[in-house]
Amino acid sequence: MAAADIGIIVSLCKRRGFIFPASEIYGGLGSTWDYGPLGVELKNNVKRAWWKAVVYDRDDIEGMDGAILMNRLVWKYSGHEATFSDPLVDCRECKGRFRADKTYELDCPRYKRKVAACSANLTEPRAFNLMFKTQVGPVEEDAALAYLRPETAQSIFVNFKNIVDSRWRKIPFGIAQIGKAFRNEIVPGNFTFRTREFEQMEIEFFCKPGTDADWHAHWIEERHNWYLRYGIRAENLRRYVQQPEELAHYARACTDLQYRFFPEREDEEKQWDELEGIANRTDYDLSVHSKGKHDKWQVHNEHSTQSLVYRDPVTNEKYFPYVIEPSAGADRATLAFLMDAYSEKPGPDGEPRVVLKLHPALAPIKVAVLPLARNKSELVEKAKAIKADLQRHGIRAVYDDTAAIGKLYARQDEIGTPFCVTVDYDTLGIGKTKDGAKEEDAPASPTGLLDTVTVRDRDTWEQVRVPIAGLRDFLADRLGTV
Ligand code: ATP
Repeated sequence: MAAADIGIIVSLCKRRGFIFPASEIYGGLGSTWDYGPLGVELKNNVKRAWWKAVVYDRDDIEGMDGAILMNRLVWKYSGHEATFSDPLVDCRECKGRFRADKTYELDCPRYKRKVAACSANLTEPRAFNLMFKTQVGPVEEDAALAYLRPETAQSIFVNFKNIVDSRWRKIPFGIAQIGKAFRNEIVPGNFTFRTREFEQMEIEFFCKPGTDADWHAHWIEERHNWYLRYGIRAENLRRYVQQPEELAHYARACTDLQYRFFPEREDEEKQWDELEGIANRTDYDLSVHSKGKHDKWQVHNEHSTQSLVYRDPVTNEKYFPYVIEPSAGADRATLAFLMDAYSEKPGPDGEPRVVLKLHPALAPIKVAVLPLARNKSELVEKAKAIKADLQRHGIRAVYDDTAAIGKLYARQDEIGTPFCVTVDYDTLGIGKTKDGAKEEDAPASPTGLLDTVTVRDRDTWEQVRVPIAGLRDFLADRLGTV
């Protein structure tokens, strides 16, 4: 089944506090977005699930968190200063600026046609460097020029030796990092799919030349399965093997994991776009950041103080490790999980109701604890105590009494909360009083329901009665390790 289109997700995100347009009250700032109370939890959970899979569940990856501002020389020798650019055309008539390779896809802002149809007004393509410039220190001069990093990978390469030496690592092993990256995209858009500030989740996996093709295959498999494990449907995820002419000059191979981000497009081929790229970058990165001449890459590094060559501790063989790079976007992944989780079904009133079927590990809130009535202090106290106990034991729980129970269930469905726990009169063993009746006149609660609560499942809407004493285990079993 195709997922909801991005437009539906944008409106859900705004309505329910996942993602808002940034600087909104001043008219926004082209394609920047703020993650709200639920969005920050969801994105943190996506990043946590990634970190768990690649760092904690394996024995061959170290984590790190590098600085966004780096010495400009990093970008000189990585090649970004000279080549990290998109071809760009300007329209002399509407003054619009477009990616030259996208003119057949982009709409002309003035006429009802594609930009390519304005060819007579378009300038020749020219390179536009995507790195944001800034300056370090108060003086605005060339020497103080720095860039906001356009990818997280480079701080991993320049720390390769630090990590090998401090962590006794031997090849093969990898380094993982999550962090912000910045690109002055010519045409940002499609919500958080393409923004100028975004977050990457990158692994650089170092291996011996000759073993690189196997490691590349391993990582394609691992990363594909990770998305499926956390709820992406198989029919919405595919692999795209880049053709030789699409590869960066140093890359031997690259497979993109593509998600069906645009299910509304008629042409099936245009429905897909990149979620993650998994590249075999050969020995380019560690070579070019090493001091000395590297004829293979036509680079003479006169500034680096170190050689990043690796010496095999057993054979004493020296070589530059090959790098396999699975590079994912945290924002694109978050968007894909949201799109794939979106569903609608008729509510009890027959009206369509949104149910966000997020994997429990990703759901912003795991359990909502609700009192059946907010004007009954025993119900409120009991519900708050249950919430506090769940939270104390690491299950993200909220208390809510801001509406009638049916409405509260609907709200939790819409934000993807896997379970609602309801504290009612039976929980207190007092039965429900009719309006105006004295408490002692209330019908007795059915035996066996004292100190039990109702647990409602988001996806089936089934309700079961669970003793409070066993609630934590009941929920933890169903939520998994989250
Ligand atoms: P694209 O072809 O879509 O511009 P890319 O091939 O330049 O992407 P990479 O450099 O491989 O992207 O970056 C790795 C990942 O970072 C991408 O797969 C994507 O998930 C994410 N990413 C890259 N650019 C952006 C952006 N402008 N906004 C949001 N996420 C991005």
